[in-house]
Amino acid sequence: MKYPLFRRIKKILSQKVTLMFVFHGTQGPVKKHFSILFLVTVFVLWTVFTGVTVYLATKNFDYWSAKLRIAVLGTKYEFVNKELSKTWELLAKVEENDRVLRKLLNMKSKKDVILNSPEDIGKGGPFISQANFLVNIAKTPQEVNIMDYKQHFELIKNKVQQQIESYNEIINYIKLQKELYKYTPLIWPCFGRVVSPFGWRIHPIYGQEHFHTGIDIANEMGTPIRATANGIVKYAGWQEGYGKAVVIEHKFGYYTVYGHLSVIKVKIGQTVSRNEVIGLMGDTGTSTGPHLHYEVWRNDKICNPIKFVNPEDFFKG
Ligand SMILES: [Zn+2]
Repeated sequence: MKYPLFRRIKKILSQKVTLMFVFHGTQGPVKKHFSILFLVTVFVLWTVFTGVTVYLATKNFDYWSAKLRIAVLGTKYEFVNKELSKTWELLAKVEENDRVLRKLLNMKSKKDVILNSPEDIGKGGPFISQANFLVNIAKTPQEVNIMDYKQHFELIKNKVQQQIESYNEIINYIKLQKELYKYTPLIWPCFGRVVSPFGWRIHPIYGQEHFHTGIDIANEMGTPIRATANGIVKYAGWQEGYGKAVVIEHKFGYYTVYGHLSVIKVKIGQTVSRNEVIGLMGDTGTSTGPHLHYEVWRNDKICNPIKFVNPEDFFKG
């Protein structure tokens, strides 16, 4: 027997079937004859048609969902780029504030030089490379290299770090200025009139020329004598020539000396604040009448106290 299977299939396919359609109206039943081959062909065609339709629909769905994803990504990129631009603008403002602050404080420092080095000069915003980058990503967000973003965020991080350091320096500078203000002798130690200035003079008792190491301020006996800056009492007691005297050590190399007191109101080692009463005017020691002998020393050098009695002079620098 040749090709028995093929013949069997051919035999099955060539068989006819009758489909009867019964209408529930007035018409009688309708009988239709089909070969099995015809029915199989219809079934195969139907399956292929459905398959192709489903395939095409799926393909289209992928296409549209991809398009939607791209649109969403584009919006996200746009958002990121706008935020980047805003961040650069904010940083530019922070830098501007920094410059204004430094100018106000008249700060001259290494940082000042670094901040104004060539790459920063004339820059009130992003670098040119950064501006170009922002323009590029606005045009073709899908072509932007992720490394560009990395570079951007790296730059922002560095800028912020730089600003933090700069502001820390400004804060330290202000702290130092406050300390300097508190610990520099800046006021008159008492009321009265200057009866003998600083410098060469004829000594009122010995009658010979000598260097007067301070200023003499005369007033009534018992006039309060005040510390001219914050500090620590280094000496309180009798001293040859000075009579009852007080020596205060301040910071930044400053010392002040108060002589000829009638009463000493502080003890050695005591912390005193500016304006605090440390004693009363008298005429102890080598003195011709009630007055205060006031000296200012800085870094072991005697200074003219008159240069330290006006606080406004301190602010003039
Ligand atoms: Zn004197």
